[in-house]
Amino acid sequence: MIRISVLILLLVVSACSRPSEQPAAAAPAANTTAPVAVAKMPSFDAGRMLADIKALSSDEFEGRAPGSKGEELTVKYLEDQFKKIGLQPGNTDGTFVQSLPLVGITAGNTRPLTVSGNGKKATFKWRDDLVAWTKRVTDTSSLDNSELIFAGYGVTAPEFKWDDFKDVDVKGKTIVVLVNDPQIPSASDPSQLDPSMFKGKAMTYYGRWTYKFEEGARRGAAGILIVHETGPAGYPFAVVQGNLGERFDLVTPDKNMTRASIEGWLSLDAAKKLLSMAGQDFDALKKQALTREFRPVPLGLQASVAIRNTLRTIQSRNVLAKLDGSDPQLRNEWVIYTAHWDHLGIGAPVNGDKIYNGALDNASGVAQVLEIARAFTAVEPRPKRSVLFLMVGAEEQGLLGSQHYAEQPVYPLAKTLAAINVDGVNQWGKTKDVTVIGMGASDLDDYLRDAAATQQRVLRPDPESEKGFYYRSDHFNFAKKGVPALYTDTGIDFVGKPAEYSQQKRDEYTNKDYHAPSDEVKPDWDLSGATEDAQLLFLVGYNVANAATFPAWKPGNEFKATRDAMLK
Ligand SMILES: [Zn+2]
Repeated sequence: MIRISVLILLLVVSACSRPSEQPAAAAPAANTTAPVAVAKMPSFDAGRMLADIKALSSDEFEGRAPGSKGEELTVKYLEDQFKKIGLQPGNTDGTFVQSLPLVGITAGNTRPLTVSGNGKKATFKWRDDLVAWTKRVTDTSSLDNSELIFAGYGVTAPEFKWDDFKDVDVKGKTIVVLVNDPQIPSASDPSQLDPSMFKGKAMTYYGRWTYKFEEGARRGAAGILIVHETGPAGYPFAVVQGNLGERFDLVTPDKNMTRASIEGWLSLDAAKKLLSMAGQDFDALKKQALTREFRPVPLGLQASVAIRNTLRTIQSRNVLAKLDGSDPQLRNEWVIYTAHWDHLGIGAPVNGDKIYNGALDNASGVAQVLEIARAFTAVEPRPKRSVLFLMVGAEEQGLLGSQHYAEQPVYPLAKTLAAINVDGVNQWGKTKDVTVIGMGASDLDDYLRDAAATQQRVLRPDPESEKGFYYRSDHFNFAKKGVPALYTDTGIDFVGKPAEYSQQKRDEYTNKDYHAPSDEVKPDWDLSGATEDAQLLFLVGYNVANAATFPAWKPGNEFKATRDAMLK
């Protein structure tokens, strides 16, 4: 199955024209010219990258949690590096920081979920049946006899001519929705998903739980409850229950009052029980929800539940520096590199170690962006457009630093050509390939392919596209606002290594070190591949910064409409 989907992706990608050479017939003539040739290629130094990683992931930095002493040290370190590199303060107020106000919200249940109607009444258990919270920055929030309505997948996707809501007004109601995006079987082979609908096996943003809460809030729903299913969610209900601790969010001017009163998840058993109270069958409803003709189903039931919030505020920071473009006309246009500087801080000890150093996640990405920044100050000729190096905070709390920048950008997003993100670098040696998360999304893939060719390397699509990794790091907040965004990962074809080497190393990291205190610099790290990747991502940004036209989303991409509207 994976092989088939990879093949489809390859076909889709190779069918796309390379805008730097031959515009597609259907697309408006892309008058891109050949990129400016690099007269003097800067050097990329593994030793410098390793020194930055060691400093940022040292125990002294205490795992770089937002609002901690580790944040103070990290911000200072980044400012010092930016100055040493010769960059200018990235904020228009003349500083290297953008303030990032966060609120920590811990929800406690004060009234359990009760559902009544049809002459029946049932109480659902907090945590076992229902995991819920509110993003509203308020002491209490509740549903009070809110009408329940089943809204299918809760998706409105014009590019797939799909609208689960139709003309039904869900204002003030509580919608019950399915997890993931609509899994439409292929007409020719029902054992496969239709690749023309919601990208087949790959997850689109419509499948992410965050989308369901956003769409429900846009429609004024009072409550949004997602039915948890382990398969389509990709994780068990225990992971959802893990969300009951403190959750961080941005402090928006309206205190998030546009969000729903209650957001949450129902366990599958609880959802089945609730639906049966309405005389409905879960599997039958799920089947109905897989058609374009689906309409929301009123359940004739009312829901009530109340929570109390414990709130605390934290001041964190994004750290940013700029290099002014050389062209007086183009220097107010931007290419942005992002990497999150934060990690998990000090936490539960594992093998006697309580400092979550985050060497790979993401001291390494910060180090790679610093190395790319050094290259930009050394390259000749200098890029025509300006380049922003943005080290965002609070990624581990839900991509909050990048969300804050995307919502309150220092430079207009309509003048931002691309966001290139690094979250973890290759520490296992050189590869002949590079993995593109969400390959086929935008013209940036073509820039990347051209750059990779100069290193005799090739692109490879993400083999786990069903996990939706494209929506799970900082570039995504730019994509969501319409800015073409590139996110790559380590390749799998290691130079001079057996075929199983990649998976073995990857599993080792995932099982032992991912989000654990042991994510530290290891003696056997080999950053030669990360150095090549730094050059690769440098070339992409450099060529975009010099290009005649803006890179665009590929047709059919879910962010294209937003970008088109922005550039009108
Ligand atoms: Zn992480």
